Amino acid sequence: MNQIKIFAPASVANVSCGFDVLGFCLEPVGDQMLIRKTNSSGIKITKIEGQNLPLDVKKNVAGVAAEALLKAHPTKSGFEIEIYKNIKAGSGIGSSAASAAGAVYGINELLGKPYTSHDLISFAMEGEGMASGTVHADNVAPVLMGGITLVRSIDPVDVIKLPIPKALTAVVLHPKIELKTMHAREIIKKNVTMEKAIQQWGNLGAFVSALYNEDYDLMSRSLKDEIVEPMRSMLIPEFESLKKASIQAGAIGFGISGSGPSVYALTKGIDGAKKIHSAINEVISSIDIDYEIHISKINEQGIKILTD
Ligand code: ADP
Repeated sequence: MNQIKIFAPASVANVSCGFDVLGFCLEPVGDQMLIRKTNSSGIKITKIEGQNLPLDVKKNVAGVAAEALLKAHPTKSGFEIEIYKNIKAGSGIGSSAASAAGAVYGINELLGKPYTSHDLISFAMEGEGMASGTVHADNVAPVLMGGITLVRSIDPVDVIKLPIPKALTAVVLHPKIELKTMHAREIIKKNVTMEKAIQQWGNLGAFVSALYNEDYDLMSRSLKDEIVEPMRSMLIPEFESLKKASIQAGAIGFGISGSGPSVYALTKGIDGAKKIHSAINEVISSIDIDYEIHISKINEQGIKILTD
């Protein structure tokens, strides 16, 4: 096999009580990538369509991640990468993660799979580090491993794939204003009180337990963010009204996706998701910004190989 075409999905990270550790993979939104093995060594990004992003491998997360893989696994072949972007950079639904994870996934396949998807996280994370200024794995992990993942540690990488309750469905609103992860990080206070920390780890433990037991009531009680949301939500237009409308329409929980401006709600079933979709639409359509709303099952597989 000398070339591979893949679908690299969007993802939701910083899932409320799981800031920097909990993420899930989305189904309908994502980029396509074409990766080709060549005879000249090294990585080249030969084409980017859909968005204005750097072709320079040192400035594109796909290039940085791919080079990290080749540093660990030297080979005589080189690789050319084409990226067809659908996920807007800075949207908060893992645009950079899709490219970083997609690049290392594709190259690994063309090399005959020397690495597991868990191994690939550390290479993809280097790309993320370049984009946001800090290395984090909560977007690349669910994209590479699929489903819902918990990052216990990034050094060494230790990621756990969590069970997906069958009816769990996400609604994601992407207000089309740009909010760079780097800037959204700057407004977070560096210290957390003991009281808030206790609430957060109580909620995270309970949420994980609720996933194992398909306990939607416990998910609802625990899907809260006592630490980051109060600071970051002010960067997101109509955050409180969107949250209130979603919960009233039956959402299990509602929070910021990644570092925003996207927000997500989780709910039970497609019908529940449709109600939340219209509740969100009513709030956001009252202000003058472009937006998109997606309904998505949790994508259990993550990156997919395309055969056409
Ligand atoms: P997101 O959560 O949507 O990934 P980030 O702010 O984390 O948003 O990342 C976007 C930043 O990464 C932008 O500054 C963008 O220029 C940079 N970047 C570099 N390469 C890529 C790529 N292939 N895809 C998306 N963003 C990229």
